[in-house]
Amino acid sequence: MTKYIFITGGVVSSLGKGITSASIGRLLKSHGFSVNIVKCDPYINVDAGTMSPYQHGEVFVTDDGAETDLDLGYYERFLGISCAKANNMTAGQIYQSVIEKERKGEYLGQTVQVIPHITDEIKKRFTEASRGFDITIIEIGGTVGDIESLPFLEAARQMKINKNSSDIIYIHVTLVPYLTSSDELKTKPTQHSVNKLREIGIDPDIIVTRSEKKISEEMKKKIALFCSVVPEAVIEAPDAKSIYLVPEIFKKQGLDEQVMMLLRLRSKKWDFEVWNEFAQNVKNQESFPEIKLAIAGKYTKLKDSYKSLNEAIFHAAVANKIKVKTEYLDTETENPQKAAQYDALIVPGGFGDRGIEGKIEAIRTARENNVPFLGICLGMQCAAIEFARNAAAIKDAHSCEFKPKCKNPIISLMEEQKNISKLGATMRLGSYSCEIKKGTLAQTLYGKNKIEERHRHRYEFNNEYRKVFESKKMIFSGINKKLNLVEIMEYPNHPFFIAVQFHPEFKSGPLFPHPLFTGLIKAAMERRNNAGI
Ligand code: GLN
Repeated sequence: MTKYIFITGGVVSSLGKGITSASIGRLLKSHGFSVNIVKCDPYINVDAGTMSPYQHGEVFVTDDGAETDLDLGYYERFLGISCAKANNMTAGQIYQSVIEKERKGEYLGQTVQVIPHITDEIKKRFTEASRGFDITIIEIGGTVGDIESLPFLEAARQMKINKNSSDIIYIHVTLVPYLTSSDELKTKPTQHSVNKLREIGIDPDIIVTRSEKKISEEMKKKIALFCSVVPEAVIEAPDAKSIYLVPEIFKKQGLDEQVMMLLRLRSKKWDFEVWNEFAQNVKNQESFPEIKLAIAGKYTKLKDSYKSLNEAIFHAAVANKIKVKTEYLDTETENPQKAAQYDALIVPGGFGDRGIEGKIEAIRTARENNVPFLGICLGMQCAAIEFARNAAAIKDAHSCEFKPKCKNPIISLMEEQKNISKLGATMRLGSYSCEIKKGTLAQTLYGKNKIEERHRHRYEFNNEYRKVFESKKMIFSGINKKLNLVEIMEYPNHPFFIAVQFHPEFKSGPLFPHPLFTGLIKAAMERRNNAGI
């Protein structure tokens, strides 16, 4: 039978519960257990697909096409698992399915209520997600004390009824703030948030404290006493230099041992070497040679908007033993020709026409100045417009997304997208296969002829322009044969110019860096070496 670990958060949001969950998952996986992780989001949106990255950070996309919370990205990267729709449940989804059942008459005669109907639906999903796994970690979003997360916490409490105490544990992640004026750490907020949790009927078994300063043994004892746990169950989570060092920080404090003891599990093996090797390289990063990379995107003000992209760059950099200095090139306010000053350029995915002309100009600069370039989704669409205008002399080339009535729609809508009226979950989403042409850069990078990559877009390369592009030496090196859609294009008269309609960043991890990113970083280093910088 599966064992459950519920992770809750107290005092403030953004404590890094996702990284805590993923790190615990990593340690347990290294002990030989099969682990699944589920994120509960208390908001009413059915999924994250319609939210701006400014609201909620990046939208992460799974193989089965779910548009989810970015924490699922951590789960995949730390555990090497492929998450699915069931790994992210929102209050919106739960209410939607309960209301649908009510309309069908499934609760005939009953008053439909939060308890038991909403909580039963949540518990059903917890149980389904745990099937086939030794351990299921369930991260409950939000902060204890919020109205929104109450049904999830109530369901978490009910899960323990009729189960042994060793089947379910609760880990509470909390903040121990530091007061500069009195130069001390304060445990009171933690005590209050644990009290709040107890009011709901949950007694935490382990407390993970986030703080900017080291917590003394004495303070740990105090927290333990107030929160009714043993001092060894108070685990520090100081701000780490890299998120990839968190599993090691937890391991040193015996968090994995505590969890296994409470769940009455015995380690099956200890296989941490490959992860550790990556972590050691992360620590040595300062000694690696540096390259400068530009990201020409629009969501430059919130770091989380390009979470997976930044992680993928980082994985590829560490794999190549290179340090990457990433800068954002704001193509709305800055001169896009600044792209020539970088060792590499990425134009990432995006929606809306802000800064589009600047992105197109930045790509032209990269193409004409041999700056290694990777275009992702909107980045590929911009690369296509650029090439049409400047290499194929189609001056009014554009995308239907930005100019619906343009005469030369290089990027256009597929037939089935033309009649869509609802915006939620209606894009080309999730994993699609792509066949790679022999003898191309794509084939060299991937080392295979067939790949699967994740998508999130409505618009596609317009096949009517394939011939004219090919006559100007553009190669369509990746095609989805079933739908006859362009997936990858590359320009051979250049050291590294490749653009893809999918999002490779969603499939990169520390132990499996993505070939498109490792290729880009390598090409950037070569450019730097050749320039003799
Ligand atoms: N806005 C473009 C489309 O919908 C690109 C989307 C993206 O970059 N993810 O096709």
